[in-house]
Amino acid sequence: MPSQSRRAHVLPPSDNRKMSTDLGEFDLIARYFTRPAARAVLGVGDDCALLDVPQGQQLAVSTDMLVEGRHFIPGANPKDLGHKALAVNLSDLAAMGAEPLAFTLALALPKAEAAWLEAFSAGLLALADAHGIELVGGDTTKGPLNLCITVMGLAPPRCALRRDAAREGDSVWVSGTPGDARLVLGGIRGEWRLAADDLDVLRERLDRPLPRVALGLALRGVARAAIDISDGLLGDLAHVLHASRVGASIAVDDVPASAVMRTQPVERRRICQLAGGDDYELLFTAPAERHEAVLAAANAAHTPVARIGQITAAPGLVLRDAQGQAVAAHYAAFDHFRTP
Ligand code: ADP
Ligand code: MG
Repeated sequence: MPSQSRRAHVLPPSDNRKMSTDLGEFDLIARYFTRPAARAVLGVGDDCALLDVPQGQQLAVSTDMLVEGRHFIPGANPKDLGHKALAVNLSDLAAMGAEPLAFTLALALPKAEAAWLEAFSAGLLALADAHGIELVGGDTTKGPLNLCITVMGLAPPRCALRRDAAREGDSVWVSGTPGDARLVLGGIRGEWRLAADDLDVLRERLDRPLPRVALGLALRGVARAAIDISDGLLGDLAHVLHASRVGASIAVDDVPASAVMRTQPVERRRICQLAGGDDYELLFTAPAERHEAVLAAANAAHTPVARIGQITAAPGLVLRDAQGQAVAAHYAAFDHFRTP
């Protein structure tokens, strides 16, 4: 932000918390986003953070933004928001096979409310601690609620799981049970009705996604290409196919479904599982002969995976159901400028 002054970057927390619920910029940074540097050489409080990149490692960097009204419902639970803002970014590190190192947080807030900030920072830092990733800096400004995180991770050279690395004959795999976030979103929006119990079970998948970091790390040297499913399974697979200049044949009924998903009509299940975003599962390819190694990696990462198809030399996507019948590939991915 265009700072008025470059003096005193971080002031000590003031003790006026009981008197006022609104905090100043430096006060809130100090109180909610500053902790002693652990992995960083220098963390929050100076003009830049300083990080060592160990010899023999590359830095993996990614940014994801969450905008109120676009990525989350106005009035969303701040603790969940803190979790999700970091989770979607950790998911990108996972999809690269990178080990989480550090992150920055750029925050636009309509008002500096202590209760909101406390819950947000608790959700954010709890997930950060669970993954050993450290908040090393950011920017804080007044404005419409907008959360932008940049994550940094480490991967040895030639170890990252790139989108352009799929090869003909590779198996296509997916983690978890894709589609649950879309299913619950449709229930919330009134596109379809879900039982109250089912809504509660699935809500967690939308609000508190678990990034597959352990799986991404375990797949180093086993998988070839990987991507996280943030915009829909087929749409994200299409990015891999395009980057790798290959095609794929997918057995749509082999995409693992949660217990609630299995009770849904087939067309709804397809929309959710094939085109639903916000899942943060990993889609990856691995040579067919590495089948056992993939299962061992998944087992080591305590993450279920399933084989759902194969990479083909011919470009394009062929979908088949359990009976071997062709399924029309009209399940478009989410696109911010094309999807209303
Ligand atoms: P600058 O004047 O260089 O933009 P700021 O005054 O914006 O610096 O920020 C002061 C310090 O606090 C910097 O080290 C910055 O990285 C850190 N910081 C600002 N906002 C946040 C935040 N939301 N989370 C973590 N660190 C932050
Ligand atoms: Mg700043």
